Amino acid sequence: MRSILNYVGGKFEEGDGKDKYDVYNPAFGKKISVVREARREEVNRAVDFAHDAQLKWQRVPISDRIKYLFKLENLMWDKLDKIAEVTTMEHGKTFEESKGDVVRAIQNVESAAAASYQIMGRNNRQIASGIDEELVRVPIGVFAVISPFNFPIMIPFWFVPYAVTLGNAVVIKPSEKTPMSIEMVMSLVKEAGYPEGVIEQVNGGREAVDYILENKKVAGVSFVGSTPVAEYVYKKGTSSRKRVQGGASAKNYVLVMPDADLEGSINNIIGSFYGNAGERCLAGSVLVTFPENHDRVLKIFKKRASELRLGYGMEKSTDMGPLIRKDHMERVERYIDSGEREGGKLVLDGRNSRSRKYPKGFFLGPSIVDGVSEDMTVMKEEIFGPVASFYTANSFDEAVDVINSSRYGNASSIYTASGLLAKNFTERVDAGNIGINIGVAAPIAFYPFSGLKDSFFGDLHPQGGDDNVFFFTERKVLIYKW
Ligand code: NAD
Repeated sequence: MRSILNYVGGKFEEGDGKDKYDVYNPAFGKKISVVREARREEVNRAVDFAHDAQLKWQRVPISDRIKYLFKLENLMWDKLDKIAEVTTMEHGKTFEESKGDVVRAIQNVESAAAASYQIMGRNNRQIASGIDEELVRVPIGVFAVISPFNFPIMIPFWFVPYAVTLGNAVVIKPSEKTPMSIEMVMSLVKEAGYPEGVIEQVNGGREAVDYILENKKVAGVSFVGSTPVAEYVYKKGTSSRKRVQGGASAKNYVLVMPDADLEGSINNIIGSFYGNAGERCLAGSVLVTFPENHDRVLKIFKKRASELRLGYGMEKSTDMGPLIRKDHMERVERYIDSGEREGGKLVLDGRNSRSRKYPKGFFLGPSIVDGVSEDMTVMKEEIFGPVASFYTANSFDEAVDVINSSRYGNASSIYTASGLLAKNFTERVDAGNIGINIGVAAPIAFYPFSGLKDSFFGDLHPQGGDDNVFFFTERKVLIYKW
């Protein structure tokens, strides 16, 4: 079986570590390639290449560095369908969802071009007699990007275009579960003519991450994944004075007020819970209603959820793909079990709706657990699958308290016709991305992808705006007198 290639020093090469992780087509339940765990020497060699390349790259004028971005952008548009097909094959999401993943990556390439102009300095003449002062932003060195499985292209591209255009070099370590999409993009990086070593890919899992964190030439790490790993990467990285930004796990609440336009919003609400098969850090997980609208919301939600068709993401009829792995599917099933065992009412059981056409695929249909309470596991833990838990609150204040009792703070949404309630919600809810009549509160490329509490480690968030410019550059203040 072919192994995923590293891209180091401008060349594709097979890793020389041991075969360690299988890559599957999760819809077919079939192995399609293998990932070798990078050895420490391989990681160090990639970082050395990146380090040497960066010393030259930082001297390339910014206006020229941006030209590579435009070339890469054009190539990604040209290959959009092809990349999306690879993503659907290795991840399972529908073709349209995969295209969305690539398009948001391209938007980050565009946004990086604009953000880079922000590194122009600030000048102050005559801060004292005959003395001028100037602030300039300079690149830092080699950054590592360590990404999760659920958005194989978009998430690395929250960082890569900014880091390199600002004059740094980047080593990407994609998820060992979905490394093929980014491997394909490396061939576009090569075609765009990026100097050797400026953008690289190494493969592997936990050990490769440790080798990256232990390499002194790596100046910073952009990480996205689960909270325990984000915390580990943050602590280990910052202890050797690396910069670290770490996106982490989530538990997102969607509040449907009695005055919401339910019919007009239902598809959007369903998309929040079951889009990307629930494997989305912005996915709705707990749906909060009130005694006066609970039955109506549950009825229409259940009807729409039951209509979702499971299948292979490349087939037009498919609304929802499989989960990433069998063991993850079984983990989500255990959450459904616990919902019932701990007192919830299972009104829709996804375990009954597998794909008949793909019996070996890791399919799990949409589930609904009604009547959940605060102490239940399904209310507290991230499930990362197609399960909606219905919680009934007796007041808006209670709903806000329940949302804020979560250890996570990635996203939250409210559906309402009241501007005042919506304003209240944005002010009181402790979540970094807030949707108003929008169930997936995903910021566009030139806004930071926020996230609070245990959903984020660090200070500067992924994506555009000031955050990435600040993360990938250092400030120098020049004071001079002639
Ligand atoms: P994960 O934490 O298992 O893996 C993420 C990365 O860390 C991978 O590259 C993996 O190889 C590496 N890794 C895994 N275990 C490690 C260990 N013990 N030591 C060092 N490195 C290790 O996450 P996942 O399952 O790929 O992705 C799902 C998680 O990511 C969910 O919790 C989801 O909420 C989160 N996520 C967060 C955001 C965000 O922006 N906050 C976005 C997407 C996904």
